[in-house]
Amino acid sequence: MFSARKLSGVCRAIRFHHCRSQSVSRTSPNLAFVPACLPPDPVEVEELQHFVSNSKRLFVMTGAGISTESGIPDYRSEGVGLYARTDRRPIQHAEFIRSASARQRYWARNFVGWPQFSSHQPNTAHLVLRDWEKLGKLHWLVTQNVDALHTKAGSQRMTELHGCTHRVFCLACGDQILRSEIQEHFEALNPTWKAEAFGVAPDGDVFLTDEQVCNFQVPACSKCGGILKPDVTFFGDTVSQEKVSFVHERLAESDSMLVAGSSMQVYSGYRFALAAREKQLPIAILNIGPTRLDHFASLKLNSRCGELLPLIVVDDATS
Ligand SMILES: [Zn+2]
Repeated sequence: MFSARKLSGVCRAIRFHHCRSQSVSRTSPNLAFVPACLPPDPVEVEELQHFVSNSKRLFVMTGAGISTESGIPDYRSEGVGLYARTDRRPIQHAEFIRSASARQRYWARNFVGWPQFSSHQPNTAHLVLRDWEKLGKLHWLVTQNVDALHTKAGSQRMTELHGCTHRVFCLACGDQILRSEIQEHFEALNPTWKAEAFGVAPDGDVFLTDEQVCNFQVPACSKCGGILKPDVTFFGDTVSQEKVSFVHERLAESDSMLVAGSSMQVYSGYRFALAAREKQLPIAILNIGPTRLDHFASLKLNSRCGELLPLIVVDDATS
């Protein structure tokens, strides 16, 4: 790992960076779910700048940490993550498939959480990565998030590794629908049902009691009557081999890897860091708190994504 050193000359360089990054629109971050951290160290900014400048085809992997500044909590952050604040855990795939009451509970909570969850907006970090794509710096983006914020930001060269809560599909016939469309079906089926949303989770889940859930009506597929499931890889399920191979191919075309806002605890994402190590690609991590690959990364930075990424200057490689 690079060592952090204080150099007075770097501060001037950073002010210069600030001036040149005006194209990135700034949004006021909601920091309630962001772990406490120090402002970016000037030396670390210079090190990340060096890392990004040296990359011609950057592979970026993001996790819940990039969306906390949009007001969505993550699962694992110390003190502010969902696991630290509550005893709730996300639904397991097998439970959703097996149990009608588990699906009823899931959809009731999802129905209540949807208006708020779907209204979250991308923050500065999402916008910066979108700009890096336009400038020809970012070769491929893989997100472990299911919140659609990269899509809302305008990223296109992207794989949603664990799917997206904004899409729903039928387990029987495979028919796909937009999540926003079935909100109306939910309302029609449950005209008098009401519950308060509080504590929306990274997948749009909220807290509801069993009493609140038991009268909730769940719509079936309008084509075949099958079970509807969000297009999301639940815990306990696996990412399709086709998608994994596709991401490996994009990684093989890349020359370095940046992890932003992820502790990489989940194997489905971690395997790509292992593949990057095997290919001896330089790896940089931008995450508040430890990650699973700290010991083999070439650079580790403990800063907010939305604070550090806009400081990095990227020239247009497409012209
Ligand atoms: Zn169907």
